Amino acid sequence: MVLLKVLRKQKIKESQARVLLLGLDNAGKSTLVAQILDEDMRSVAPTFGFQINTLTRDGINLHIWDIGGQQSLRPFWHNYFEKTDFLIWVVDACAPARLDKCIQELQTVLQQEDRLIGTGVLIWINKVDIGRENISLIEERLEKEVLGTLRENHNVGVIPCSAFTGEGVNEGLDFVCDEIKSRLFVL
Ligand code: GDP
Repeated sequence: MVLLKVLRKQKIKESQARVLLLGLDNAGKSTLVAQILDEDMRSVAPTFGFQINTLTRDGINLHIWDIGGQQSLRPFWHNYFEKTDFLIWVVDACAPARLDKCIQELQTVLQQEDRLIGTGVLIWINKVDIGRENISLIEERLEKEVLGTLRENHNVGVIPCSAFTGEGVNEGLDFVCDEIKSRLFVL
């Protein structure tokens, strides 16, 4: 754990941070990346495999790894965990029927993966432009089923957002940068 933090601290000093963007397929991960990079959201296509984009914010180069979330690709997620500084997990606010699966996959990733211990975690509840009524249900379930355990090993933020309107996107990125910078003072 301490060694991991030393390595993470060194890399962050060089202003490089590796950010993993995960969640079930269709949650809006690639659209969020397009919103962040100010790209045309209509050209977003499903990610089969992964895409890396770099964003410089607050003096940090965030290398954002957008990993495909289809069921067939989830067994390969573990290939991307190495050297991760931060995990962003995207939940689809408009898919309450998939919430069980979403929470189960998040638990699998964070509670069984040693290489992610100590990373910051942002849970973005996306698509609130059309799924605002589901925010409290999702927050309650996350609080009850995931966050207690997660907070033992991670700084966690939960922020509703919309890739379409941009709501919550800057707030989320601020959380990511602040959390990464806060670890400069951990040791
Ligand atoms: P991914 O599989 O997680 O990368 O999801 P995509 O980025 O491909 O988005 C899946 C679908 O959700 C697409 O039809 C997007 O246009 C739509 N979508 C993504 N973000 C939002 C959002 O904030 N609001 C709404 N209404 N739709 C969204």
